[in-house]
Amino acid sequence: MLTRWSQYFLNTLREDPKDSESISHKLMVRAGLVRRVGSGTYAYLPFGLRALQKVMAIIREEMNRAGAQELFLPAMTPVELWKATGRYDIMGDVLVRFKDRTGKEVVLAPTHEEVITELAKEARSHKQLPVILYQIQTKFRDEPRPRFGVIRTKEFLMKDAYSFDSSWEGLGKSYDAMYAAYQRIFSRAGLKVLACEADSGAMGGDVSHEFMAPSEAGEDRIAHCVSCGYAANLEAAKCLPPEPNPKSAQPEPMKEVQTPGQHTVEQVSRFLNVTPAQIIKTLIYEADSEVIAVLVRGDHEVNEAKLARVLKAKALRLASASTIQRVSGAPVGFAGPVGLNGAKLVADPAAAAVVNAVAGANKAETHALNVNIGRDAKPELIADVRFVTDQDVCPKCKAKLELIKAIEVGHVFKLGTRYSEALGALVQDASGGSQPMIMGCYGIGVNRVLASAIEQLNDKDGLRWPRSLAPFDAIITIMETGNQDMAKAGTDLAEKLAGSGLEVLLDDRQQSPGSKLKDADLVGIPVQVIFGKTWLAGGQVEIRSRSSRDKLTVEVPQAEGAVRKLLDTPPSL
Ligand code: ATP
Ligand code: MG
Repeated sequence: MLTRWSQYFLNTLREDPKDSESISHKLMVRAGLVRRVGSGTYAYLPFGLRALQKVMAIIREEMNRAGAQELFLPAMTPVELWKATGRYDIMGDVLVRFKDRTGKEVVLAPTHEEVITELAKEARSHKQLPVILYQIQTKFRDEPRPRFGVIRTKEFLMKDAYSFDSSWEGLGKSYDAMYAAYQRIFSRAGLKVLACEADSGAMGGDVSHEFMAPSEAGEDRIAHCVSCGYAANLEAAKCLPPEPNPKSAQPEPMKEVQTPGQHTVEQVSRFLNVTPAQIIKTLIYEADSEVIAVLVRGDHEVNEAKLARVLKAKALRLASASTIQRVSGAPVGFAGPVGLNGAKLVADPAAAAVVNAVAGANKAETHALNVNIGRDAKPELIADVRFVTDQDVCPKCKAKLELIKAIEVGHVFKLGTRYSEALGALVQDASGGSQPMIMGCYGIGVNRVLASAIEQLNDKDGLRWPRSLAPFDAIITIMETGNQDMAKAGTDLAEKLAGSGLEVLLDDRQQSPGSKLKDADLVGIPVQVIFGKTWLAGGQVEIRSRSSRDKLTVEVPQAEGAVRKLLDTPPSL
C-alpha cells in the first residue's frame, strides 16, 4: 500500500503539547498520532489509528489462537446490573451515568463483568463450558486524574475477556491460557513487561497478575528481583522478617523522655539522635468495628492492603482523633505500644525485632526509650503489614530487590463466583445439581500498549517503532520534489515496494530537505529511503534504519532487498 504524504492527514508539530507529562504524550501529539479533544479524551488521527489497529490485530490473533471467541457488547448498560453486584456503590463517581428520556439511569460501562455474566446464563449445562468470550470495545471511567496522554483517559479501548468454567481446575487452565496469550501479545508488540503478583483485595484466596511495562511514566511501583525474576506490585510484594542479629544490644529498662514539639519520625530521630529504623511508629486503625494499633518501624510504611488481608477486614480506615485519644489516653501523635487500652496490637516483624526502640509513650510530648516488643507489649498478631522498600531483599531468593515504576498494560484475575453468584449464572453439574459458573477476567488497555511501546522505544529525535506496530514499514523521502526525475524515481520505487506487500509512505511534500529528514525521524518509520545527493551523483539511494541508525547506500534495483533486511532487525530497547 502506498500513501502520499502530500495528501495524507499527518501534521507534525515542532512544539511539545502544553502540560505534557510523559514522552509518549509528547511524541504521540508531535508525530501526529493523536489530538486531545477534551479532558481525558483523545482523537486518533489516521497515522495513530494505523498503529492502534496493529495492536488490536495482534490481540485478536492471540486471543483467537487461545480459543477465545470474539463478541461485542454495548457501552450503554442498565443500572440494575450494577446495583445487583454492588458495584454501583463501590465504583461510585468513576461510573459515567446519565438518565435517558424516560428517566431511567444508564451506566456507560467501565468494564463488562455484569453484562457478560448475564449473557453467559445461556449456557445451562457444564457440557457447554468452558468458554472464553472477548471483545475490544470502548470503556468509560470518570477518572479523577486523567494524565500522561492516552495512558489514563476517561474513554479508552479495552480488550476484555471473560472465562466461564464449571470447575476450579478448569479456571486454572483458562487462566494459564490467557496468561500465556498475554505474554505473546506483549512480546509481539515489542513491549518489555513483567508479570507481577498483584493484590487481589481483602477477601484473599484469589489469584491475580498485572502485566507491567517498566517506564518512568508509570503510576504503579513494582518490586523486581533481577536475580530470580520475582516481580510483584508494591501492594502485594512480600517482606521477609529481618534476620536475627547476634550482635544486637541487650534489652535495657524502659524509661520516658520529654520530647516537646517532636512529632514526626524525622523530628524524633533528630532530637534523640537515633535512626528512623530504631523508632517504632504506632498507627491506630478502625477495621470493621475493631480498633487496631499497628506497629511498623520508623523507616517503613503501613501497607493497608496487606493489613486488611491479614485482619480479613472489609472496611479499614485510620481511626478518628477521638478514638486515638480514647485508646492511647493522649493527644494524637503520641500513641505507643505500651499501655494502650482497647486496641488489638498488630506488629510488623521488623518492628517487633527492634531492640531498645523509641516509641510513643501514650502521654503528651513524651516518648518511651528502650521499648522491647514481646517484653513490654505483646502483639496479638505479628504479620507482614508494610510496604517493601529498596532496602529489602527478594522474598524468593534473598537477592537485592529493585523498585521500579511501571505502567499496568494488562490484568488477569481469577474471579471465582463473585459475579455468577450475584447474578445467578448457574450451570447444571455432572450430578444434576446446579452450581455457579467459575469465572476469570482478563483485560488489556489497548491504548496503553501503544503508549507504553512508545515510552520504551524512542530517542531524542522521535519515535522508534517496532515493526509490528509501525504505521508504515518504510518512508521514501524525495529531497528535491522540484526535480522531476528524482520525484519519478522515488515514486517508482515506492510503487514497487508497495506492490511487493510493504506499507510505504512517500514523502513527496514540497518542504525543505532538512525538515523532511527531521519529520522522518520524528514519525519513526523503521526504514528510511532517501532520494537525495547520492541519487543525483550516481543513481544510488541511502537506506537508513531509524532504530539502529545503520546506513547503506545501494543502487535503486537493490533497494527492496536492503529495506527488507533492515526491517527484519528489531529495535533494541
Ligand atoms: P489502573 O489501576 O491503572 O487505574 P485498573 O486496574 O483500574 O487500572 P483494570 O480494571 O484492570 O484497570 O482494566 C484493565 C486494563 O485497562 C488495565 O490493565 C489498563 O491497561 C487499562 N486501563 C484501565 N484504566 C484505564 C484508563 N483510564 N485509561 C486507559 N487505559 C486504562
Ligand atoms: Mg487492574
